[in-house]
Amino acid sequence: MSALNMERGVKAMMEQIDAPIASYFNSCVHCGLCADACLFYTETGDPKYTPIHKVEPLRRVWRQEYTFWGKLMSTLGLSKRLTDADLDAWQELVYDSCTLCGRCSAVCPVGNDIAYMVRKLREGFAVSGHATEGLTEAAIRTVNIGSPMGIKAETLRKMVASEAKASGSDIELDKPGVEYLLMLSSAEIMQFHEFIGAVAKVMDHAGATWTISTEAFEATNTGIQMGSSDIARQLVQRVVDVAEKLGVKTVISPECGHAYTAIRWEGPNLIGQAYGFEVKHIVEVLDEFRAQGRLHLDDSKEDMKLTFHDPCQMVRRGGVVEQPRRLLDLCTENFVEMPDAGVWNWCCGGGGGVSTNERAEPLRLKVFSRKKSQLDSIGAKAMVTTCSTCRNMLEEGLEEYGMEVEVLSLTELLAEYLDDSKAGKGAEA
Ligand code: SF4
Ligand code: SF4
Repeated sequence: MSALNMERGVKAMMEQIDAPIASYFNSCVHCGLCADACLFYTETGDPKYTPIHKVEPLRRVWRQEYTFWGKLMSTLGLSKRLTDADLDAWQELVYDSCTLCGRCSAVCPVGNDIAYMVRKLREGFAVSGHATEGLTEAAIRTVNIGSPMGIKAETLRKMVASEAKASGSDIELDKPGVEYLLMLSSAEIMQFHEFIGAVAKVMDHAGATWTISTEAFEATNTGIQMGSSDIARQLVQRVVDVAEKLGVKTVISPECGHAYTAIRWEGPNLIGQAYGFEVKHIVEVLDEFRAQGRLHLDDSKEDMKLTFHDPCQMVRRGGVVEQPRRLLDLCTENFVEMPDAGVWNWCCGGGGGVSTNERAEPLRLKVFSRKKSQLDSIGAKAMVTTCSTCRNMLEEGLEEYGMEVEVLSLTELLAEYLDDSKAGKGAEA
């Protein structure tokens, strides 16, 4: 990397150090509780994975640029400036061993939001050219082609047509004046495309109008994952422009925890204005249909012993804890909670861009041992979730550990148990 890029990276970190971050560094009491909350530490025992340690480069910039003693030591040449070699060495801690799951933030007794700090630190890494290759390439594909996996509108059209046929529903793309605009993650187009058919079935059943845009279908915000607010802003604006053009009332984040955080919580701040529409996760929409009496399920509930994996971004950032459980209650009769369920759930190990990073594979499979012990303690035969990144990671982890546990999508499970004879009848049925 050039010295100029390094200088820009340090400047980007300086710009990211806002009042909360400065206060977090000031208030850390070095209790180490965040370490025991992070699966990368608990499953490896390696102190380098202590969450607050992961943001050490940001702390150095804060100390050197914003504290009296730090500035003095820097002026006297008594403290080392950050170098390319430092950031190269730190890349693994910032990108491979942090899923931005927020468990450390939730446990910190002085309220330090370490996940927020890692997110900010990634901005400096991205500007100085130290973001991982996988994330950088995925972000470029999202900007240029429209999706991190390079999926084009033509592929989407084919998948949607095939799911419309399979589900027996009409799915009209780019339809103006409808209530809902559904976003999709790449995984839901290429691997888990039954999700599209399941949404179609539920929407028909509930009598709701909806569409998918061929101009802005991708929900994954790779800008946030790599740490580029400029790219993140561009991707949010793309969705906003399409939602406004189509005049929808609600944009639906698909089964993706990270996409939900990006579009719902970070989006308005990134573009600097409130949306003229609402944003909801698909599970929130389904739970609203339930509350409005628009979901009618048949009597044949799923009797397999199953549990629920809470995606970190849904529970800790989004507070969406009860909605999936109310929906599961409609269609299952042998549901069992994992230990530490809900806001204290343990991450799958693949979020925050970690699963797009090939180098991180051995580490994320190692730390899956935490999910394995959660599952072993309850003996569930299936695990339902509401995030396709989790779904992918859970399947990989279960295979690695030779565990025979099925992974299911909540939307797909619910669609399976709808009573077709009462479709579109609303609360009257
Ligand atoms: S839990 Fe909070 S106060 Fe304790 S070491 Fe971690 S960041 Fe510092
Ligand atoms: S956000 Fe999650 S993965 Fe990242 S340091 Fe904190 S606990 Fe660990």
